[in-house]
Amino acid sequence: MEKPNLTKEAAARLVEVALDALKTLGDGEGRHIYEPTLTRALDPLRRLPALGARCRCGTGVAWWAIDPAGAFVAASQRRAPPKERSGGTTDFHDPNPRQAGRGLAPWIESAASGKTSVKLVDWKNNAGYPLRLRFDCPKCNAVYVLKNTERLRLFLAAIRDQSDTIML
Ligand SMILES: [Zn+2]
Repeated sequence: MEKPNLTKEAAARLVEVALDALKTLGDGEGRHIYEPTLTRALDPLRRLPALGARCRCGTGVAWWAIDPAGAFVAASQRRAPPKERSGGTTDFHDPNPRQAGRGLAPWIESAASGKTSVKLVDWKNNAGYPLRLRFDCPKCNAVYVLKNTERLRLFLAAIRDQSDTIML
């Protein structure tokens, strides 16, 4: 898949469609993660470079990207080396790159380890994705706990504003 080169107008239109779909559905949790109106609107955004999420103190806390398949915002504290990034969740650091036949996405493995700024708060597995993610600021110790719906809204707002930063 090629990296998207979205015009401002195209990005604004996609964001509008996605936010409309979210509004109609009520949230972006559980089976809504697979809802076609929402997933199709997000398709052109899946290979955008990961966006940096920052604490209100200004410190970078995590990198966010749209999941390869679902209407879901994945997150990782670290990024892969520049040469290994090809947009979306491929921009994330893989803690265990040579492991075969793994069941979990690398970023979920990292979050499940509890050793990074991104942590799993609970695990609702009916949709195959964590429910809430927790973000710990390494500098001021602020804690942010966000559901997928909130992460989607923040991510989409950044795309609409053509910003590469998400303020938590
Ligand atoms: Zn902070």
